[in-house]
Amino acid sequence: MIPFLDLKAINAQYRDELVDACTRVIDSGWYIGGNELEKFEQKFASYCGTEFAIGVANGLDALILTLRAWKELGKLKDGDEVIVPSNTYIASILAITANSLTPVLVEPSLESFNIDPNNIELAITDKTKVILPVHLYGRLADMPAIMDIAKRHNLLVLEDSAQAHGASIDGKRAGSWGDASGFSFYPGKNLGALGDAGAITTSNEELANTLRALRNYGSHEKYKNLFQGVNSRLDEIQAAMLSVKLGHLDTEIAHRRKVATAYIESIDNPAIILPAQQHNAHVWHVFVIRCEQRDALQKYLAEQGIQTLIHYPIPPHQQQAYNDWNTYSYPVSEMIHKQVLSLPIGPTIPEQEVIKIIEVINSFSNVVEG
Ligand SMILES: *Cc1c(COP(=O)(O)O)cnc(C)c1O
Repeated sequence: MIPFLDLKAINAQYRDELVDACTRVIDSGWYIGGNELEKFEQKFASYCGTEFAIGVANGLDALILTLRAWKELGKLKDGDEVIVPSNTYIASILAITANSLTPVLVEPSLESFNIDPNNIELAITDKTKVILPVHLYGRLADMPAIMDIAKRHNLLVLEDSAQAHGASIDGKRAGSWGDASGFSFYPGKNLGALGDAGAITTSNEELANTLRALRNYGSHEKYKNLFQGVNSRLDEIQAAMLSVKLGHLDTEIAHRRKVATAYIESIDNPAIILPAQQHNAHVWHVFVIRCEQRDALQKYLAEQGIQTLIHYPIPPHQQQAYNDWNTYSYPVSEMIHKQVLSLPIGPTIPEQEVIKIIEVINSFSNVVEG
C-alpha cells in the first residue's frame, strides 16, 4: 500500500538530530518554559517574518487564545462577527464560538478552495470585527486583497496558517500578513512536532505579551494573575524537536512542490480537475483533486494499493455540533466536500510511487466506462 503520508519515514530522516535534541532536554532538567522554547520561538518568528512567536499547546489553542486576547484588550466583545470560509477545517470555527463570537460563513472560490474576497465584502456588517482567512491545503489565501478589505473596513485579520508554514506571496510568508496568525505543529502538518504543539505569530507587542500571560494561567509574573488564563504551553522537548524540523522545512517544501508539479503535468484524465499551480503561494500540505465520481475513484485507488483521504467529507454547517446551521445552504462548499480527494504527497514519497499514482489515475475513466 502506498501510504497517504509516511510520518515514520519523515522523522527517520532526522533521527540522530532528534535524539540529540531530546537527550539535551532530558539532561537539562528543565522541561517547561526554558531555552528550547525561546530558541524555537525566535527561529520561527524570524522564519515567518514577524517580531514575535508565542508557543502554545496546539493549533486550536493558538486561534482560541488570539481571539481571547483581543477580547481582553477590548478590541472584541461577545457577539461580534468573524468572517471565516465555509469550507474550512472545523477548528477555525470552534475558535470563534469558543469565544462567544459569531462565525459568518463565506463561500470559497472553487479555483483556489480559499475564501473569495468578493464574498467577504458582501458579508461585512456593523458587527464585523475580524476576518479569519484559512490558507487551506497549504495555499496562501488572497492576502493582498484581504488586507485591503480589512484596512478599508478597519477589521482585524487572524490568519489560520495551520496548513501553510512557509507559503508566500511577493516574498511575504503565511503568518506575517494579518494582525496575528495561528499555526499548528500537529505531527501530520508540514512542520510537525512529535506530539501536539502550536504557535501564534504577530508583530504586535501588546498582543504578544497578553498571549504569553494567557497561555500561562493569565500570569505575566509568577503568582500574579492579570487574566483568567489557561494552561496551554509548548514544552521543551517539542520545542527542541521543532527547531530540528524547522531547519529542514524548506527542503521538504521543495520536494512537495516537485511531486505537485509531476501530478499537474502528468495527470491527464477528463474525469479529474487538478488544482491550480501558484508557485510560492502553495506549499502543498495536501494535493487535492476534484472528481464527480469521487467515491468510485477513491475505491479504485484503494484497490490498486493507493491510500487517499478526503479533506473534508462534511462541511462545518452540516455538522451536528452546529445543528442550528444544518438547513443553511453553501453550494460551493457542498460541491467541494462531495468532490475532493487528496492524493499522497509528502517530503519522502519516492518517485516510483508518484509515477504509479499517475498511471492508476490516468486509467480511471476506462474503468468507469467499462
Ligand atoms: C490542524 C488545523 C487546526 C488545528 O490544529 P491542532 O494543532 O490540531 O489543534 C486548525 N486549523 C486548521 C486549518 C488545521 O488544519
